[in-house]
Amino acid sequence: MAKRIPVIAANWKMFKTKDEALEFIFAVNAAVPSRDEVESIICAPAILLNLLVKREGEHIRIGAQNMHYADEGAFTGENSPAQVKTAGAEYILIGHSERRSLFNETDKDVNLKMHAAFKYDLAPILCIGEQLDTREANKTKEVLDVQLDKAFEGVSKEQALKTIVAYEPVWAIGTGKTATPQMANDTIKDVRAKLSDLYGAEVAAQVRILYGGSVKPDNIESLLQESDIDGALIGGAALDHKNFLTFTKAA
Ligand code: PEP
Repeated sequence: MAKRIPVIAANWKMFKTKDEALEFIFAVNAAVPSRDEVESIICAPAILLNLLVKREGEHIRIGAQNMHYADEGAFTGENSPAQVKTAGAEYILIGHSERRSLFNETDKDVNLKMHAAFKYDLAPILCIGEQLDTREANKTKEVLDVQLDKAFEGVSKEQALKTIVAYEPVWAIGTGKTATPQMANDTIKDVRAKLSDLYGAEVAAQVRILYGGSVKPDNIESLLQESDIDGALIGGAALDHKNFLTFTKAA
């Protein structure tokens, strides 16, 4: 079975001006590991996508953070899948917890966006995760299984293989609290088991599953040492280009 190539994805959220984005990309372009070894992805605000795509080095890839699921329409302020695709993005974050909690994105929206991503040949980075009370009530697997069932509704095996899943416990995002490597690995094993129920063991063994939530240069290595953690989705700490390189080199 093919090795799962690790993924390091930066989520810039709503940070960086044009000049800051350029400074970052020029600093990392020649220094990231080869794309055969690590998929190094920057998920940038939509307005910066084209700028970055034009300057991306051979080993960097660009993703968007959100899009509407409709082909086009009267949705002021939104970006369509075709706009994201023709701006040059290859990846799309779907269902990030900030989209779910601050912009009321539902599991149904997430599923529609998954289908829109496949229609426009964008690789989804599907974010799932539990709230703190769910973790404390020992209901994490139950909640993640529902998120996965709904996100993958109507998604084929071939499409599932193109998906990267990011397990991001909501209580660890931007809080400085990280799941322990073992806790993250155990949960990611449960996610893989659910993918196996949905698509069979062979597909589940190939899908990359990332951890996200307060990943920092001093905890990345211990997380990546775990058997089932195939990389990381990193917000705050990946705004710094030196950190981003540290993450890609650790992978
Ligand atoms: C994220 O935005 O997906 C994230 C994990 O953020 P942070 O690394 O800042 O917790």
